[in-house]
Amino acid sequence: MHAVGIDIGGTKIAGALVDEQGNIIRETRVPTPAHDADAIADAVVALIRELSDGVEVGAAGVAAAGFVDAERANIVYAPNLSWRNEPIKAKIQARLDIPVFIENDANAAGWAEFRFGAGVGAKHVVMLTIGTGVGGAVIVDGHLLRGGFGLAAELGHVPLNGGDRPCGCGQTGCIEPYGSGTALLKSAKELVESGDPKGARLAELAEEAGELTGAQVYQAITENDSAALELLANLGAALGKTVAGICAVLDPEVVIIGGGVSAAGDLLLNPIRESYLRHLSAAAYRPHVRFAIAEFVNDAGVVGAADLARRELGTL
Ligand SMILES: [Zn+2]
Repeated sequence: MHAVGIDIGGTKIAGALVDEQGNIIRETRVPTPAHDADAIADAVVALIRELSDGVEVGAAGVAAAGFVDAERANIVYAPNLSWRNEPIKAKIQARLDIPVFIENDANAAGWAEFRFGAGVGAKHVVMLTIGTGVGGAVIVDGHLLRGGFGLAAELGHVPLNGGDRPCGCGQTGCIEPYGSGTALLKSAKELVESGDPKGARLAELAEEAGELTGAQVYQAITENDSAALELLANLGAALGKTVAGICAVLDPEVVIIGGGVSAAGDLLLNPIRESYLRHLSAAAYRPHVRFAIAEFVNDAGVVGAADLARRELGTL
């Protein structure tokens, strides 16, 4: 049976009609009305109606960038959207005939990789999404780990890294301000502003483009610019230490790295792996986790949300 998956992000709401094998039949997207909770619900309902028009759809899964409560009914808090204790499930469900299920967006993305992507074949999977922030998902023995209050797997906010950079969550020591795409860009900007000759290529790219963005940093990485590679290695080192901590608790078979920065591939995986081995307890006497780059590029959230909805419905 087909299901609709919706992924509500800070800038866009993506939707897709997804089959049982995780294939996207059709998809569409609209800008997120980020400062109007009711308008977000309206947009989601419209997308679900549009995508299910003329086909039999069993359920809709809605993934959202926020803390989802244990009942999967309310968004407790969303750093980049206007939601505070938002009863999103009730608002959407009231206007649709099919069952609606809510999930955290990183959880949905991790689920898609587990079912159809880089985690296929494993039962214990951790995913880190390295984008604007650092998202996480944990699958334990084939089940998505949601936690006692629904807030499990916020891996970007495990205070394992040390350091005093403030995090968007209000704490310090989280991996997010050291291991996100935002952190990478910030370090690159600091290097350029310092006037250090090491940053000459990044400065050149910034001048050509008018400002330094992730695209220019990525270009410098693909050109093997030593300064950009060093910044990426620092990012990987911070992430690897956190992965070692995560592995001490969860002992996964595979750690999947996704999000925009994962486009760097092995240039990111290698420093993560080195740092992981340096910080892993009893590293010489235990099997090592397999690292993989996420296979879904942009569609993990919608595919995972649709599949989780089917699972909640009991048809999986
Ligand atoms: Zn944090």
